[in-house]
Amino acid sequence: MKKLTTLICLFCPVFAFAGPKLYVFDCGVIAMADITMFNLSNDETDVRELFVPCYLVEHEKGRLFWDGGLPKPMADAPGEMMIAGGKVRYERWIIDQLADMGVGIGDIEFAAYSHLHFDHAGAANFLTESRVLMQRAEWDAAFNVENEFIDTSLVDQIPEENVQLLDGDYDVFGDGSVQIVYAPGHTPGHQTLLIDLENTGPVLLSGDLYHFRENRSLRRPPHFNFDREMTLKAMDKVEAVLKETGATLWIEHDQALADTLNKAPDFYD
Ligand SMILES: [Zn+2]
Repeated sequence: MKKLTTLICLFCPVFAFAGPKLYVFDCGVIAMADITMFNLSNDETDVRELFVPCYLVEHEKGRLFWDGGLPKPMADAPGEMMIAGGKVRYERWIIDQLADMGVGIGDIEFAAYSHLHFDHAGAANFLTESRVLMQRAEWDAAFNVENEFIDTSLVDQIPEENVQLLDGDYDVFGDGSVQIVYAPGHTPGHQTLLIDLENTGPVLLSGDLYHFRENRSLRRPPHFNFDREMTLKAMDKVEAVLKETGATLWIEHDQALADTLNKAPDFYD
């Protein structure tokens, strides 16, 4: 019996670590009639709806919340809400969706947003207990430079002592399984997320490096991006990462992709 225990324990290191799990949440939809602001003609795609996701990564060292969906008033509104250039709908507020899974805000060690536009930072002010992994360039753009794209009222309740400013790529848990890949250009400090899932294979969450599949295939940054050249460089960098790692790119706003994904409480591992 003692021998058997020893034998089993030889394999303990193999079995002890289960890789990260990735949960996908529906955090709304943005619908618009005209997509030319994305540097696509209205004939180049029929797609007029952008899925808005939130994600939760569970790692043995803690949880990382990635991208905060639409703001709460859009979830509170019954049905659709008009916004400039289109309309939005949002079925169930993300904090309630997390609670449904038994995850409270105190259970989330890290939060990171691809960038601070309203459709990615909607829950940011509610995750006040997490350490926020933020690019310095994005934080500066939000608070220290005049900008027209970042609504600071969505992020101004994040306690400053919880913000960890980054200057590029970052290995979240120190084991290479969950990595922030810096990809600026859409906004000054835009970032993407690479997750090494054991069974699914590596997945890279795009942030807004691309909105539509055509932005990728035609290599066209939207007109409203902060810096076009910076975006093209970020596209090259991320495409190289995809090639090197064999990761699958999930364009976060891709509604057709989202329709095929299992939503929380299901997960990818
Ligand atoms: Zn977006």
